[in-house]
Amino acid sequence: MKFLDLEAQYQSIKKEIDAAISRVIRNSSFIMGDEVAELEQKIADYVGVPYAVGLNSGSDALTASLIALGITSGDEVIVPTFTYIATAEAVAITGGKIVFVDINPDTFNIDPKLLEVAITKKTKAIIPVHLYGQAAEMDAIMAIAQKHKLYVIEDCAQAIGAEYKGKKVGSFGTTGCFSFFPTKNLGAYGDGGMVVTSDKKIAEYLRQWRIHGQPKKYYTDFVGASSRLDTMQAAILLAKLPYLDDWNAKRQRLAARYDELLVDSKITTPSIAPGASHVYHQYTIRIKDRDAIQAQLNKIGIPTMVYYPVPLHLQKAYRTPDYYSASLSKSEKICGQVLSLPIYPEMQKADFEHIIKSLKCLTL
Ligand SMILES: *Cc1c(COP(=O)(O)O)cnc(C)c1O
Repeated sequence: MKFLDLEAQYQSIKKEIDAAISRVIRNSSFIMGDEVAELEQKIADYVGVPYAVGLNSGSDALTASLIALGITSGDEVIVPTFTYIATAEAVAITGGKIVFVDINPDTFNIDPKLLEVAITKKTKAIIPVHLYGQAAEMDAIMAIAQKHKLYVIEDCAQAIGAEYKGKKVGSFGTTGCFSFFPTKNLGAYGDGGMVVTSDKKIAEYLRQWRIHGQPKKYYTDFVGASSRLDTMQAAILLAKLPYLDDWNAKRQRLAARYDELLVDSKITTPSIAPGASHVYHQYTIRIKDRDAIQAQLNKIGIPTMVYYPVPLHLQKAYRTPDYYSASLSKSEKICGQVLSLPIYPEMQKADFEHIIKSLKCLTL
């Protein structure tokens, strides 16, 4: 059994993918070919915003958003401590100060009730993460951001297609940041990312930023980067995009089945906040004796993952009192309890049944 089977997905859409790849090679349009703009338009339409800019990773989407908004040293940016490293790293790269806040352990997302105490005169932005594929509580987050005139940069890396009260994630904030890392719900065959926004100025800035701040070749207006989305990746993503909603629906059906079958067990299944939808990039349970259970599952051939073993404020790179805000104890505690089970559209039914049975046996 595999934790994720990208080969199975490829086999299911091989014709389209192979055609897309050979078209890019035939055209030799490797950098900024037509597919990049085409994908940008389609993702913008999908999310429901006017602009999208392809970049070379989700991490760059976060960093570039902060740079475009002028975040610099002395500025404070609020980030959940329970997330992937890239969320906080983007702030550190700009020289801004990371202010970690705790999460709601039921949804694994930033707890809006903890935001106001973390806000100071220096706060410039909040980065909510739609962790594991569940939309964060955007009404409460946006209300606080508006009250304090803060930017909101949505980290949508795990949540393409998820909605809050019927609106797609990425359409709430000043920018929304997507990752096309191969394992994400919409994954390329290499690195890729995108920023979506309703702000034309930000979009124009990013289009120039990703090519060294060049308004035209060999002239530069500001310090940028080399951060384009490859045409090859854009072509692959265009071939995959029509399947995304169906794949997400399959993930949701598998999650519903996990929920149903684990209901009377000692396992805490993921909860969904009112108004939020979940596209199950990960199906993450909470469980006592996590390490022992994981080891036993591993022994009988069931792969699982721990996302994430350590909250960011306890990581070597960020372990400075300067980064702390209030108590982060909920994140600290759940790092010892979380366990992500295999969930992907091509999962075999037999594998799924095997996981459920084994989990029930081990946690009686
Ligand atoms: C994957 C991920 C990123 C970074 O995306 P890359 O494309 O790998 O750079 C950022 N934030 C979260 C929450 C992620 O899961």
